Amino acid sequence: MEQLKKGVAVIGGGAAGLMAAIHAAELGVPVTVYERNERCGRKLRITGKGRCNVTNHCTRDDFFANIPENARFLFSAWSRFDSAETERFFEQAGVPLKVERGNRVFPVSDKATDIVDALVRVCREKGISFIHERVDGLKIENDRVRGVLYGKKSMDFDVVIVATGGLSYPLTGSTGDGYRFAEAAGHSIVPQQPSLVPLVEDGRFCASVQGLSLKNVALSVTDRQKNKVIFRDFGEMMFTHFGLTGPLVLSASAHLRPMERGRYTVSIDLKPALDEKMLDARLLSDFEKYKNKDFLNALGDLLPQKLIQPLVEQSGIDPRKKVHTVTKEERRAFLQLLKGLTVEIKGFRPIEEAIVTKGGVKLTEIDPRTMASKKTAGLYFAGEVLDLDAYTGGFNLQIAFSTGVLAGESAASAVWEMTE
Ligand SMILES: Cc1cc2nc3c(=O)[nH]c(=O)nc-3n(C[C@H](O)[C@H](O)[C@H](O)COP(=O)(O)OP(=O)(O)OC[C@H]3O[C@@H](n4cnc5c(N)ncnc54)[C@H](O)[C@@H]3O)c2cc1C
Repeated sequence: MEQLKKGVAVIGGGAAGLMAAIHAAELGVPVTVYERNERCGRKLRITGKGRCNVTNHCTRDDFFANIPENARFLFSAWSRFDSAETERFFEQAGVPLKVERGNRVFPVSDKATDIVDALVRVCREKGISFIHERVDGLKIENDRVRGVLYGKKSMDFDVVIVATGGLSYPLTGSTGDGYRFAEAAGHSIVPQQPSLVPLVEDGRFCASVQGLSLKNVALSVTDRQKNKVIFRDFGEMMFTHFGLTGPLVLSASAHLRPMERGRYTVSIDLKPALDEKMLDARLLSDFEKYKNKDFLNALGDLLPQKLIQPLVEQSGIDPRKKVHTVTKEERRAFLQLLKGLTVEIKGFRPIEEAIVTKGGVKLTEIDPRTMASKKTAGLYFAGEVLDLDAYTGGFNLQIAFSTGVLAGESAASAVWEMTE
């Protein structure tokens, strides 16, 4: 029984770590969470613009369709703790939930803090200890994890779960420490890349309209190498000094793999509610209304002010041309621009600005049925530190929860087996 007292250490008090800790403690083993910040769940608090899109109310097939790579690895984790379980967990923990567009699940309060507070409250109820220190490394002897190292201290544990997150938004505490721990334990790391990240334009158009936010646009991305449209959706986006951002753009970014300069073209339909015929009728009617004005001054009913001059420049039509002299061909060309304003993409913004990190601890070196390391005994991984990421919609947190639960329960079972 002496060994049992050492219990489970969880490194990282984020979504995956807290869920792992709770499920390990439920199996009756002592659990200690190491979190480098004064408070747990700093990233969780800013998720979903402070509202936390905690999961997706989806079927199994939908879940796996939203994970672009390595989805098979999650079969066991999802079977053990799917999105219905996540919903049940938070409702039982006193956080009523609601389902919004795209099956996105949020707390009714629209407060991400309610999700973090519930996780921490359940941890406390289960007697989990918290140590607010940054772990520096794993104590490994004879190919087995024996504990954690922090400051000048070393603390012994039977098993350790690494749930330190990825590399994005490092101010939240996720600075990639877990990759170092994994490497020291003999693991390979799949190179990290940003995903769900703003896009950098190969040109100057976006800078000319920076700050402009568009609500109801349709955005598509063409992979020029494959000559194929690889993403198409409707929603909200924003122009910035470097290019494009906003929910629609972040979602699109996850499909731009591999990122190569000159390969992807974003096309923005500024008037998706109007087909070409309807839009042409609308243009004709505006042109009739403003027939004696300069072309530049005839578009105020149709477009946001900030967009008019740059679009007219892009169209090549003389801005001072009187509207009644605009030719049919010119009108047609302008219509095409409204239905498909193109922006060439040259890259992603840095990983620090990404919502999620693609890449991480190589999955073939992890047992998908337990989340245990195949390299070092007594070591488990959960959450974004693994080479897993998903599209937007609550799927990334669901990955953290599913892998966290499985790692927590497997780690606790391993502790029991050691003491039998
Ligand atoms: C702005 C933003 C919005 C997002 N919105 C959503 C959303 O609405 N829905 C969704 O599904 N996903 C969202 N995500 C993604 C989601 O937040 C992450 O996928 C998820 O938090 C990953 O959970 P994790 O526990 O693996 O890592 P994290 O939540 O990053 O937690 C890791 C924890 O480990 C701690 N830590 C790291 N190193 C050490 C160390 N050496 N010692 C001790 N502690 C350490 C960190 O301080 C941190 O608290 C969003 C991400 C961002 C950045």
